[in-house]
Order: sequence, then C-alpha cells, then structure tokens
Amino acid sequence: MTDFTATRALFDIPEGLAYLDGNSLGPLPRAAGARVARMMQDEWGAMLVTGWNRAGWMEAPARAGDRIARLIGAPAGSVTTGDTLSIKLWQALAAAVRMRPERRVILSDSGNFPSDLYMARGLCELLGEGWRLRVVAPEEVAGAIDDSLAVLMLTEVDYRTGRLHDMAALTAQAHGAGALTVWDLAHSAGAIPVDLAGAGADFAVGCTYKYLNSGPGGPAFIYVAPHLAGDALPALPGWLGHAAPFAFDAEYRPAEGVARMRVGTPPILQLAALEAALDVWEGVEMADIRARSIELSEAFIAGVAARCPDLRLASPRDPAARGSQVSFRHPEGYAIMQALIARGVIGDFRAPDILRFGFAPLYIGMEEVAQAGDTLAEVMAKGLWDRAEYRARAAVT
Ligand SMILES: *Cc1c(COP(=O)(O)O)cnc(C)c1O
Repeated sequence: MTDFTATRALFDIPEGLAYLDGNSLGPLPRAAGARVARMMQDEWGAMLVTGWNRAGWMEAPARAGDRIARLIGAPAGSVTTGDTLSIKLWQALAAAVRMRPERRVILSDSGNFPSDLYMARGLCELLGEGWRLRVVAPEEVAGAIDDSLAVLMLTEVDYRTGRLHDMAALTAQAHGAGALTVWDLAHSAGAIPVDLAGAGADFAVGCTYKYLNSGPGGPAFIYVAPHLAGDALPALPGWLGHAAPFAFDAEYRPAEGVARMRVGTPPILQLAALEAALDVWEGVEMADIRARSIELSEAFIAGVAARCPDLRLASPRDPAARGSQVSFRHPEGYAIMQALIARGVIGDFRAPDILRFGFAPLYIGMEEVAQAGDTLAEVMAKGLWDRAEYRARAAVT
C-alpha cells in the first residue's frame, strides 16, 4: 500500500492551505529546490558545456520519459519529454494524419481543451486538401466514428467537468474503423491509472506540471506505440530528433523510436525539477491513488451536496466515470472561487461558470476535504462572495 503520510511530507505547501488546484499546477516537491541548485552549481556551473556528456543532460528527456512511462502503462523507451503539451500534441497529430493520407477527418469533442482544438484546426488549415476537424459532444464521440476518420483526438479527462472517456473502448472502435488515436493525458497522468499499451493507444501526450508536479513550464511528454514509431514522421524535424545530431548532416534522418519526437535543446533546469518530482512517485501505486482519490472526491461531493443547494454538480456522479477532479456550476462561480481563495481554499474557475477542485492524494487528505467543504458552505450560506473585489477578473483564472 502506498504510504500517503510519507508522500505528503515530501511537499512544501504553505501551512493552513487546502490546495485543491494540483490539476492546474502541482505544488513544490521539497527536494526540487536542492536538486535544481545542485544542477546549477555542480553541473552547469562546474562542468559548463561538458555537462552534456558528463552529467547526462542529453539523456535527461528519455530518462524522465521512462519514469513517466511506468505511470501511464507504457513500455520503457516509448516516451520522451520536452517542449510544451500544445507542441507535443501538434507533433502526434501531424504524424498520425500522415499515416492516413487517404482520409480527411480528425474527430474530437467539444469538451476538449481549446489549445488541442486550435492545434488540430491549424494543422487542417495547413494541410488544406479538404482536411477538417469535426467536433461533437463528448457523449456523441462513439457514434461519430466511421471510416472517413483519420484520427480520433481526445483528452481522456475533461478539464472542465472531469468526465472520463473509455480509452480502451474508443481506441478499439477507432481501430475497427481504420483510424488512429491521439490521447491527451493532461488530466490523467498521475491522476488515474492509465494503460496505454493495454488500450492499444497509438499516440499519447501530456504535461508534467499538473498531477506530476514538475513546476510551471515543466516539459511535456509524448508516447508513440513502439510498433508505429518507425513509421511516424515527426512534423517538427529538429536536429535532436535526428539519428545522428552531431553528424550535422544537411539531410534529416529520423532517430529510432520515440526519440525522433525530440525537437531542439532540452530544458535541463526544468528536467532537473521534473526528476525530483518523479522521485516522489517511486513506490506509489496508481491503484492506491485512484482508490484514495475516489474516497476524497466522494466525501467532498457529499458534503457540498448536503450544504450548498445552489451549487450544481458538473462532474459525473459516478466516480468510475470521472477523473480526479470535482466541478460545480454557479453563475457567480468566479466570485465564489475568489472568496474561497481569500480564505485559504485554492481551486480554480473555468469559464463560463465552473468551480473546479482537484484531488491529488499524494498531498491531499480528508482534512483538506473537510476544510474546503466547511469554507465553501460558509461562503455560500452567508453570501461572502458577493463583493466587487471578488468579481474583478485577474489575467489568469
Ligand atoms: C493543461 C492543458 C494544456 C496546456 O498546454 P500547454 O502547451 O502545456 O500550455 C493543453 N491541453 C490540455 C487538455 C490541458 O489540460
């Protein structure tokens, strides 16, 4: 069994805070500061450019990728890290569409994150020749899969509602129609058990700064199923995805396997923070994370339902149908969330009316659930949110 008292002690979270926003930005792992400082002094400072060889910087993206692979049901060697999620999504999607040149449709759902939809539409515009993004409601995805489809591109857990897609079933259905799949695991990696190999997923991408706690701007990851990696052409053929970067060939030749999805110089400082963050996951079982996450979210929903009649649950009531977050709707959601944050309960707001709370068992327990529930009940009962200062929108919500 995972020892959550032990994992909690590995994070530096301000005293008295109920931090329910690790689904947006994970908290600081205690060891990250020292790890980054050591990297700067002993590696960058002392080794300078020789650090690429002597400190293993060049292998850092693959090293982190292998450790993430364990958490998402992927074999070693099938995941690499770098760039941002939006860029990794573009790469995966571009590689997938090139493997289905006789088709013209990318299918996604209206619950997907805007950047994913923008990237897909941008790619279609660039490709021209009738390529289009088709967007349907999340519950209509299965019915919209047919043999015009080149790629099914979905985010497994809806960033607003937490609704969970059935990855294995939809992947099997897409394959049955001759299409490939690109899964975005932004709200899955570190949140719920994922079995990419078992589901037969073709491509997957995700970020590391949410449930994996690598810090703001931490590198993204990309998975390519090993049997496809030799045929998947990177749409961003950078020199570090070349088979022999230091041959400085004028002609591009893709590296073996997922390494071809690397683009340019990796973010070594952020990778050092990511490596420290991944240390926390040693000995953590995703099945334990899932069981505890459900306990926490069920207790939160029950407490809110009993005391806040004006908040409407936006997440599936069945825990098996949602990820590791719980959302409620209210027309004054933004002001309510600001009132909560002012009282030490940090969640976030997603337009137009969603109050979002993430449950990360590594560092959240029943105490924070009770604190958040009590504070929310008081804010609602006394109308404490109803102040001009809580309605003033900040740039980042
Ligand atoms: C968080 C998130 C992103 C953000 O992409 P970045 O390039 O890292 O800014 C994209 N897609 C989904 C589904 C997300 O949840």
